[in-house]
Amino acid sequence: MKTRIVWMRQDLRLTDNPALYHATQGSDAVIPAYIHAPEEAAPWAPGAASNWWRHHSLKALDHALKKRNSQLLIRFGPSLDALQKLITESGASEIFWNRLYEPQLLKRDRQIKQTLEQQGIRVHEFDGALLYKPGTVLTKEQKPYRVFSRFWHTCQQLGLGEPPLPTPSRLSPLTLASENIETLGLLPDIPWDHGLRQSWQPGEASAFETLHEFCDTALETYDSGRDTPGKSGTSRLSPHLAFGEISPRQVAAAVLNTFIDHTAANSSRGAETFIQELGWREFANHSLYHFPYITDQVLNKRFEHFPWQHDECLFSAWQQGKTGFPIIDAGMRQLWQTGWMHNRVRMVVASFLTKNGLISWQQGARWFWDTLVDADLASNSFNWQWVAGCGLDAAPYFRIFNPIRQSEKFDPNALYLSHWVPELAKLPTRWLHTPWLTPDEIQFSSHVHIGKDYPLPILDLNTTRKRALNLSKQLPMAS
Ligand SMILES: Cc1cc2nc3c(=O)[nH]c(=O)nc-3n(C[C@H](O)[C@H](O)[C@H](O)COP(=O)(O)OP(=O)(O)OC[C@H]3O[C@@H](n4cnc5c(N)ncnc54)[C@H](O)[C@@H]3O)c2cc1C
Repeated sequence: MKTRIVWMRQDLRLTDNPALYHATQGSDAVIPAYIHAPEEAAPWAPGAASNWWRHHSLKALDHALKKRNSQLLIRFGPSLDALQKLITESGASEIFWNRLYEPQLLKRDRQIKQTLEQQGIRVHEFDGALLYKPGTVLTKEQKPYRVFSRFWHTCQQLGLGEPPLPTPSRLSPLTLASENIETLGLLPDIPWDHGLRQSWQPGEASAFETLHEFCDTALETYDSGRDTPGKSGTSRLSPHLAFGEISPRQVAAAVLNTFIDHTAANSSRGAETFIQELGWREFANHSLYHFPYITDQVLNKRFEHFPWQHDECLFSAWQQGKTGFPIIDAGMRQLWQTGWMHNRVRMVVASFLTKNGLISWQQGARWFWDTLVDADLASNSFNWQWVAGCGLDAAPYFRIFNPIRQSEKFDPNALYLSHWVPELAKLPTRWLHTPWLTPDEIQFSSHVHIGKDYPLPILDLNTTRKRALNLSKQLPMAS
């Protein structure tokens, strides 16, 4: 009897899952196994919001497997011990998994593969999380790209590759004992997850629904709509992609099919821009593969000794959405309540923290890591460094987002602001972007008192901007 184990990690789906699909070809029994070993990802063990998502995603996967006469086998780590025990219990001689590229996990997987192979177990690795395998998109000199446009140009020449794989048709019942998902302790002890429950439905089925709804309603206008945080102009697929509930290949295929069905010029621009966003996800992941230290250290050595400051008062106001700048506070509250923030606002809050506040990008990235349901080590580290000016192809340090201008431009009717900062909603729209400038008589007639109902600005934008610009002038020259 040929029994195979599929070690499921960040690929919590049945369709277009290369490891699962290939394991089912020519086998008698397939054991889909999840091993809980968050400490193996240290110092980047998943944060609280990710744990919440993982709990529900594992449940959804187990449910989908049960509908196919199988189930998800859950065990506690360490991963190698759990796999070896599983091999003994099941008599399996082969293990299948999809590769991970986070530095700690890549190292762990290499060690596990080597040990298992020495014990006569065949290990089959596949790629299912990205469109292009890291290490395969290189310059003519066989070096990693440092500029997105060139990286993406080369990717486009490579094409999108094979179409997505189907759901395996043959899965078998499990006879081995499994832990219960509840025992993994992924849900919070104090129930702070109300907003997450209201905002999201983790799992593969929901990922597909989200994708199709996006293609039907927002893809055509994505090019112009993606920068408006008050409207649903983006896909909100990021947590589904982060947990591998859907593959980027499936997303790209659906987007291209929609485009072929609607040949209007807008639809072409929308599809092109959207697939390019998937390209940024690729670029971030390839960068992490080539420069694994980017999670903690700057990519641009000019910033190695940058004088970041410790200001717990400012950091805490930023975390809680109490800085007195409505766009910053709206974004940080959206993050806290739903585990997600609109991309435009992510850039604005990150710029505010690192440039106006001079608080290190690492401190901001840690907070995002704990609170984002889509926390992804590559995208998070890459984008924080990008905004702070010290990353690859980064926004120059002297480009400092002005929160007021950003708010006026991208949320002109203050829909986003009044939703997430409701204590200001009674003010006339024109004062919502700069509530501290609201004349006293308007504060009085609106029953909104700035400084009492909503904080005064925690810092002066002009002074802090000048301070950041001065510091940027003092950076050592590029070598
Ligand atoms: C400071 C900062 C931190 C971030 N941290 C993360 C993170 O931890 N995880 C994460 O998935 N994204 C992160 N992003 C990127 C981006 O904000 C989110 O991917 C996006 O907001 C997700 O929403 P969406 O699915 O509706 O995106 P859409 O606009 O619908 O884009 C589709 C997909 O493209 C990818 N994508 C889009 N923009 C980017 C980008 N700039 N970098 C990488 N991938 C991108 C995502 O997978 C996204 O789901 C971060 C951005 C910033 C500025």
